[in-house]
Amino acid sequence: GCMAVPDVLSALDPEQLEVAAALTGPVCVIAGAGTGKTRAITHRIAHGVLTGTFDPRRVLAVTFTTRAAGEMRGRLRSLNVEGVQARTFHSAALRQARYFWPQITGSELPEITRSKLSIVGAAATRCRVATDRAVLRDLASEIEWAKVSNVLAEQYAAAATSAHREVGGVDAETVARVYAAYEDLKSDRGQMDMEDILLAAVGLLDANPGVAEAVRAQYHHFVVDEYQDVSPLQQRLLDLWLGERNDICVVGDAAQTIYSFAGARPDYLLDFPKRYPTAATIRLFRDYRSTPQVVNVANAVLKQAADGAPGMVLEAQRPPGPEAVFLEHADEVAEAEWVAAEAARLVATGVPAREIAVLFRVNAQSENYEQALSDAGIAYVVRGAERFFDRPEVRQAAMLLRGAVRGGDAPDGAPDAAAATAAVLSAAGWSAKPPAGGGATRERWESLAAVVALAEDVVAQRPDAQLADVVAELEARATAQHAPMADGVTLASLHAAKGLEWDAVFVVGVHEGTLPLNYAETPAQIEEERRLLYVGVTRAREHLSVSWSLSRQPGGRGSRRPSRFLDGIRPGNGNRTPVSAPSVKGRNRKAPARCRSCGTALVDAASRKLGRCGDCPSTMDEALFERLREWRLERAQQQKVPAYVVFTDATL
Ligand code: ATP
Ligand code: MG
Repeated sequence: GCMAVPDVLSALDPEQLEVAAALTGPVCVIAGAGTGKTRAITHRIAHGVLTGTFDPRRVLAVTFTTRAAGEMRGRLRSLNVEGVQARTFHSAALRQARYFWPQITGSELPEITRSKLSIVGAAATRCRVATDRAVLRDLASEIEWAKVSNVLAEQYAAAATSAHREVGGVDAETVARVYAAYEDLKSDRGQMDMEDILLAAVGLLDANPGVAEAVRAQYHHFVVDEYQDVSPLQQRLLDLWLGERNDICVVGDAAQTIYSFAGARPDYLLDFPKRYPTAATIRLFRDYRSTPQVVNVANAVLKQAADGAPGMVLEAQRPPGPEAVFLEHADEVAEAEWVAAEAARLVATGVPAREIAVLFRVNAQSENYEQALSDAGIAYVVRGAERFFDRPEVRQAAMLLRGAVRGGDAPDGAPDAAAATAAVLSAAGWSAKPPAGGGATRERWESLAAVVALAEDVVAQRPDAQLADVVAELEARATAQHAPMADGVTLASLHAAKGLEWDAVFVVGVHEGTLPLNYAETPAQIEEERRLLYVGVTRAREHLSVSWSLSRQPGGRGSRRPSRFLDGIRPGNGNRTPVSAPSVKGRNRKAPARCRSCGTALVDAASRKLGRCGDCPSTMDEALFERLREWRLERAQQQKVPAYVVFTDATL
């Protein structure tokens, strides 16, 4: 059926309607989580297109993750709006850079590096800076901060001093030298990093009036979701896109700023009305996402914020639901086992597994939950930023398989689609046996083995599947723009959960040292950690559990304290809440194996299999982290538990 204009508008409350009706000039929506910001801008675009005010090809909607962009496209499609570009900053910039770079420079755009950390490592070595992997990561993210903050290497030392930046044990002058060396090494290799994509687009638009003209002729209307997390570099790109125009609509929630460590600046949102005095500024208060119980917790977290998030009180619209649960556990394994049991209970009462999420502060926390959910026989989806499908060999395999399907020359005599896959790949020189030795050859083989495993997975679910189905699944997983393919519990970091919602949400590991993470020292860093908790609890529609544990390992000393952020938000004025017993299963686990290179205890099944921690300099290899993930997949397959890694919170 065709959606008419009144239908698009009738699904909105009066303030949302104001947003959707303001089709020209600057528009700014500042509102809390779950108040329908994303809904309002989607309906605004639909309204503009359906009334003929917007030519859909002239609209660019910008989001921060590919997943959010995919959701925006899906929502627009269901409103019968076609042809609008919904992209991440990175993907919009990359498209423009790929198109204009060759015209301007006469050469192809450099390739995107897959080994940023090792280039930072080489730069550190060149500058005679001794580092371990942790310091390298800090250096890499500091360089990232500088680039998105429009701070060049030669300006870095001064900027870092005035911004009170610190990189564990490395002084600002040295960081500046590593930064410069990193840029040199990268361009020597003919490569670029993610920030360079934005810089390339900015540079092209800035220096070439023809390019700017062409881009401005293409897009006339701009919409930015999650604007509180925009960086100075992204803002600059936005300004270049706009030129003299002011048809821009931004929506955001300063209380959800969670990327300021990486250069995001909520000031752009808060100062938007100052910058555009004619802007329509609209505030939304009604929370349509969550039950009053969940909204109460969210409001309590907001109230504790240092700036008091003035005036921000969410008004619950939904009927009451279950009480939020606050639960203390003896150790992390017991916490994970409790979450898995609770998830199983919810599934038994009819909550689909895909409507359940476990949210944590750092990705390393995922392992216990993967294990506990596997043990409980519950499928799960790890939301990560792995780039498995971007690997050249995987792309090539996909191309070969597509070619075989198109050419109708799927191999004869193969008993099923999996056999036909492995056949196509072996015709291209892939051997079923792993190659002797390790290194790049072995890695390549591992990737292709994973493609074959995926084919087997497809056949296991549908024995009559054709090669075309394997290709379709491969492509579906590679794009993964829509809901997860598997009906599994989502495991995700709090950062990756932004903008999303589930019926049931478990915010786990809410103890001192983890949330706030122990690196957070300054008041500003602590506040950013508190905002992560706010983002976490506001993802829940009905069931909310907030939990923490007193020890890391079963049988530990139990010396941890619940997060300071829980003060005043736990019911019963901070009375002690029930403690779940230490994990017995966990206690009986064998003493941990140790990393062959550095001797650290290996807590993660996948790293035990590899015999390496993946954290020490001798295993400093980005491919390793991906391989750890693949082994987890393999383990899940052996245990006949469907586990999928989806690739949807990437920015490109
Ligand atoms: P976040 O800050 O987390 O990104 P948001 O402000 O973007 O949240 P949305 O995701 O747009 O909020 O909306 C939250 C939920 O409330 C969605 O499920 C949405 O469909 C629903 N919703 C929003 N507005 C209304 C409305 N007027 N009537 C009914 N449901 C609504
Ligand atoms: Mg939103």
